[in-house]
Amino acid sequence: MSTSIKKEIKNLSPRPPIVVVMGHIDHGKSTLLDYIRKTNITKKEAGGITQHISAYETECEIGGQKRKITFLDTPGHEAFCSIRARGALVADIAVLVISAEDGIKPQTIETLDCIKKDGMPFIIALNKIDRPSADIDKIKTGLAENGVLVEGWGGTVPVVAISAKTGEGIADLLEMVALQSDMEELTGNLFVSAEGFVIESSLDPKQGISATLLIKNGSLKTGMFVATEGAYAPVRAIENYKGENLKEASFSSPVRIVGWNAQPKVGSQFKTFIKKEEAILFAEKHADESEKNCQNTSLNSRTCFWVVIKADTSGSLDAIEQELLKLGNEKMVVKIISKGIGAITERDLKIANIKNSLVLGFNVSADKNAIALATRNNIEIKIYKIIYELIDFVKEKVEEATPVEKVETITGSAKIIRVFSKNKDKQVVGGRVAEGEIKSGEIVKIFRRDAEIGEGKIKELQIQKIKTASVKESQEFGVMIESKLEIAEGDVIKVVSLVNK
Ligand code: GDP
Repeated sequence: MSTSIKKEIKNLSPRPPIVVVMGHIDHGKSTLLDYIRKTNITKKEAGGITQHISAYETECEIGGQKRKITFLDTPGHEAFCSIRARGALVADIAVLVISAEDGIKPQTIETLDCIKKDGMPFIIALNKIDRPSADIDKIKTGLAENGVLVEGWGGTVPVVAISAKTGEGIADLLEMVALQSDMEELTGNLFVSAEGFVIESSLDPKQGISATLLIKNGSLKTGMFVATEGAYAPVRAIENYKGENLKEASFSSPVRIVGWNAQPKVGSQFKTFIKKEEAILFAEKHADESEKNCQNTSLNSRTCFWVVIKADTSGSLDAIEQELLKLGNEKMVVKIISKGIGAITERDLKIANIKNSLVLGFNVSADKNAIALATRNNIEIKIYKIIYELIDFVKEKVEEATPVEKVETITGSAKIIRVFSKNKDKQVVGGRVAEGEIKSGEIVKIFRRDAEIGEGKIKELQIQKIKTASVKESQEFGVMIESKLEIAEGDVIKVVSLVNK
C-alpha cells in the first residue's frame, strides 16, 4: 500500500449520514421533519407544498448514544423531480414516507424508481398509523406488487410504522437510520478541502447571490474560495442551518455562503480552493455548456413558444424549467428565452417582445417599469405561487398557439340506390348512408367505381318523403342534388370537410 493511501485511510473518520425524506405530497414528510426538528414549517408553505430544498442537522439520542444526522427535505410536487433526483445523489440514505391511510401513489412509485436507479439504501416509513383507516398490510402488499419486498415479507427493505403527528415509532425510525448508516460505514476526511453539492441558491437584495452547500467530504474554512460550474465565491463567512456564523465546517453539514459572482446551479458539485485564481479557473473550466443562446428558432420545423421566467430561487427555476420543456407537442416547442432569479424587470419584457411569448414569475413581483412596458406592448405578465398552476397556464397557452392544420376528411358517404328524375341540373335520387352523416346544403363528391367523376350540392333531403336537415348512418333517404353530372345507380356520394388537425 502506498504511503499516501495509508495516510488517507488514517485520516478517515466516521461521517454522519445525510438523509433525504421523500414521498408523495401530503403523506407527511414535512410533519415528520418537523417532529424531528421540533419546529413548524408546514404552516408557512404556500399551497401546502414545500417549495424549496432545505436541510438541517440534528443530534438524536439513539440507543443511549448521541448521533448526528443531516436531513434534507425534498419538495413534494412532481415538478421537483429533477431536484429530487439530485437529492437522491447527494444523500446517503432515503426515507420514503408512505401514508398508511392513502397508500401507494404515482409519486411513491416514481420516488421508488429514482431511489432504485441510484442504488441508494432506503427505509420505508409507513406514516399516519394513528389514523383509524391506516392499513399497514395493504401497503406492504402494494409494495410487494411493485417489486419492493420489506423485512418480514420475504425481503430486506426496512420498514417502520410511524405517526409523524403523535411521534409513535419515530425513535425506531431514527434507530433504523443509524443502523443503516453503520452498515454503510460512512466516512470522511477532515484534512482535505471541502467538496459537495449546491442544494439551493437564491438572490437576496441586500446580500447578493447566496447558496446552500452540502459538504460531502473535507473541511471548509473562512478565507478559502468555493467554486462550482460557472460560479465562485470567497468564503468570507460560513453560516450554518440555524443562521449562526462559523469559522469552519465539515462533512455532512449544510452551510450558506454569500457573495457568489454568478448564480450557482442547484445540483452542481462544488470544490474548495485556497487561491482565488484556482477557484476562477475551476468555475470557468466547468461552465455549463447547456446554457447556450436559444434564440435559434429552427427545430425540426416546429414553431417556438418562448418563455421568460423569473423565480425566487434557482431550485424553483430549475424545476419549472424541467416541466415547461415537457409541454411541447409535435408542432410546437417550448423554449426558455431568458430565465433568472429576482423581480420581473423592463429587460424581461423587452426580451419577450416577440410572437408567441409569455413572461412568467414564480414567487416574485414585477417592477413598475416592467408593468408599464407590458401595458404599452400588450404583453401579459403572469405571476404564480404554485408551480402546477403556472404549468397549467403555459400548457393552455401553448395549445392556443399551436397552429391548426386543416385536413380533408370524409364526414359522410352514401350509395345511390335509385334514380328518380332529372330536371335541368337538379336530379332526384334515393340512397343509403354508408357512414357518417350527410346534411342539406353540403357539397358532395361523386364517385363511380372508386373514381371521382364530379361534384354536386345537396339541395334537399327527405326521409320517407318528409323533409329533413340531415341523414345518418344506415338511413335511406331521397335527395335533390344539383350537379352537371348525370348520377347513376351504384354511384357513391361523399361529403369531404376540412377538419382541424
Ligand atoms: P408532505 O406534503 O408530505 O410534507 O405532508 P405534510 O407533512 O404537510 O402532511 C400532510 C397532512 O397530513 C397535514 O395535514 C398533516 O398534519 C397530516 N399528517 C402528517 N403526518 C400525520 C400523521 O402521522 N398522522 C395524522 N393523523 N396526520 C398526519
